[in-house]
Amino acid sequence: LDTSSPEIQEARLKLPVLAEEQVIMEAVRENPCVVICGETGSGKTTQVPQFLYEAGYASGSGIIGITEPRRVAAVSMSHRVAKEMNLPTQVVSYQIRYEGNVTSDTKIKFMTDGVLLKEIQKDFLLQRYSAIIIDEAHERSVYTDILIGLLSRIVPLRNKKGMPMKLLVMSATLRVEDFTDNTKLFRTPPPVIKVDARQFPVTIHFNKRTPLEDYTGEVFQKTCKIHRMLPPGGILVFLTGQAEVHSLCRRLRKAFPFRKGNTTTGVDEEADTSEAMRKFKKAKQKKTVSLPRIDLDNYSALPVDEGDEDREAGIGDEEDDGSDLEIGDDPANGEEKADPSIPLYVLPLYSLLAPEQQAKVFRPPPPGTRLCVVATNVAETSLTIPGIKYVVDCGRVKKRFYDRVTGVSSFKVTWTSQASANQRAGRAGRTEPGHCYRLYSSAVFGDFSLFSEAEITRRPVEDLVLQMKDLNIDKVVNFPFPTSPSAEALVAAEQLLVSLGALKEPPRTGRVKDIERARLSCPITPLGRAMASFPVAPRYAKMLALGKQQDCLPYVIAVVAAMTVREIFEDLDRPAGSEDESSKLTQRRARLTQMRRLWAGQGASLLLGDLMVMLGAVGACEFAGCTPKFCEENGLRYKAMVEIRRLRGQLTNAVNAVCPEVGAFVNPKMTPPTENQVFCLRQIVLAGLGDHLARRVQAEDILDPKWKNGYKTPLMDEPVFIHPSSALFKTLPEFVVYQEIMETTKMYMKGLSAVEAE
Ligand code: ADP
Ligand code: MG
Repeated sequence: LDTSSPEIQEARLKLPVLAEEQVIMEAVRENPCVVICGETGSGKTTQVPQFLYEAGYASGSGIIGITEPRRVAAVSMSHRVAKEMNLPTQVVSYQIRYEGNVTSDTKIKFMTDGVLLKEIQKDFLLQRYSAIIIDEAHERSVYTDILIGLLSRIVPLRNKKGMPMKLLVMSATLRVEDFTDNTKLFRTPPPVIKVDARQFPVTIHFNKRTPLEDYTGEVFQKTCKIHRMLPPGGILVFLTGQAEVHSLCRRLRKAFPFRKGNTTTGVDEEADTSEAMRKFKKAKQKKTVSLPRIDLDNYSALPVDEGDEDREAGIGDEEDDGSDLEIGDDPANGEEKADPSIPLYVLPLYSLLAPEQQAKVFRPPPPGTRLCVVATNVAETSLTIPGIKYVVDCGRVKKRFYDRVTGVSSFKVTWTSQASANQRAGRAGRTEPGHCYRLYSSAVFGDFSLFSEAEITRRPVEDLVLQMKDLNIDKVVNFPFPTSPSAEALVAAEQLLVSLGALKEPPRTGRVKDIERARLSCPITPLGRAMASFPVAPRYAKMLALGKQQDCLPYVIAVVAAMTVREIFEDLDRPAGSEDESSKLTQRRARLTQMRRLWAGQGASLLLGDLMVMLGAVGACEFAGCTPKFCEENGLRYKAMVEIRRLRGQLTNAVNAVCPEVGAFVNPKMTPPTENQVFCLRQIVLAGLGDHLARRVQAEDILDPKWKNGYKTPLMDEPVFIHPSSALFKTLPEFVVYQEIMETTKMYMKGLSAVEAE
């Protein structure tokens, strides 16, 4: 193989998976499905696609596909493999939800699991592929699980039709029984090849006591101590979320400052913010006499053809919710005196971080410094950072939890699993013997669950059920899931889809049991097919389907795009890092609040609430050319705005594919909606979020003070509230619909719009 550099070649030869090439390829030749287990860093992701390539699996018309649960991994692994093989990115390519570099010459294609699922919808037999590798199967992401279920059927079908295809499932842990001992999935259990990692010994140091309160403080102290006392070698710190990561980075940088011949990343484009805003705001809010009604049976979506865009989990990368407020930088408590004599090169790493920033961790640190990467669990298995000798593990992970009945979600920091803790520790022993500092006691470790639960058992599944129905899998309960979602979750999903009109209500029979059983096989409707072709959750897909009326489509697309992308606004409750920063932050808060008020509009627009703020932000940002400068100045997350822009384009194409006569296009100079359109938009939003309705409890009905300013929802006994940051906080309309309820200090509704009382 012609590799690009001797160093890469040499590094490659050291990878444990290389010793198993023959065993792996023989198993692949003789079996339709093979499972490969090997420690993170043993070379699975980078090498196995090359084995298949060299064995000729991409020499005919078929190509090799590799799925990753995380976008970060799909992009960076495709680059790495292209480099190792000395092939251009037209040949070793990637495709993720919003972008890709796949060409007709592509032979090896890295993609997110959602992208492949979408391709199965277009071609159930996946005829473009001669081999599929499902990577990181241990993560048990929902789409990965579904893909394995589908492929367990597709592979035998392909063989029967004389177009054989290979399936490889790769996992970083040995726990693969859900795949191998599941006869519903694979009638003949696939062979498991275990790659012995040449792992150097990692010494585990448990804490005597387990800090329950200030574990980030403990992490800080430990990292400082390692840096001051221990021999050279990179430090990798595991924390639970983005805010924690940034806070620790700040503290460490302050303690061990490192200055380079600094050229702060210049902002590329000029955007005259105020001018753009002024123009955008120059809305002629026309007065009209009669208000239009949205015809709830008039869908712009009558399926002609499937949309041609990929899709990805709307939920995922859980650790990166920006909403954790409780990170105390407590300067009184054990802050270090700045010591510039031993500079520490501190880098953050988490999913929502810009790719250029992520790429930094792979490069050697500046001479004379020690590398310290502060990461969420993206660094646990997806990416291997070179040169790590010390791991500091807080032992916790942030996960999103859903209430099965109410759908209320909350991010909670919980103990991680033993398997995850061991993965984290393993990161210290890739290049030489290492050390892992666990900031909890061995007794606490003993109480961790052995493995993390599969995601599919922990979240609502309406999007999956719709996708599966679109694949004509009517009896979803019978699907060969590696781990099945609960019956309740499946029933709830079918009910929601029936209420949205995506599935046909089954004929009613007498007993409840029968109804429930029947619900699980509701057939998909034409509207449901159209909705399935839109790469967004069913509630939003319904809004798109109604969007063509009253020329609302461009607004519906923009709002749906904004609702789908997480955390578009800078968190105004973010704590200040220092006194100095604090006064600046107060000013900034005031200015950004002002800006959001501007986006919320006046008069009728106000009733569209937070969705109007989103629409205003998207409009203004596009108007200004979507520059980093505009985003920075106006408290918008640049990466989110870029995603929204891509998603707008993608949704526009999807709508046009379903309904060409609509002729939707993305207008970068979109004017704000008229009063009439706002009215229609609210009806459309209600049609999608109808099951997310809340009514303010009237003053005279309040018996318990906890209900003051509270809202009542159909499914909950407890009050829910409008967050002070919401555009509707002051108005407190009688009826609202919400995007979701998040439990933080209270139950808060997010993404609100006011609803007309009829
Ligand atoms: P696995 O999939 O088994 O976890 P990988 O194939 O991802 O292993 O990684 C194998 C090795 O390749 C790792 O030791 C890592 O250091 C190296 N590597 C992977 N990606 C990069 C990269 N972008 N830059 C430098 N080294 C890399
Ligand atoms: Mg890997």
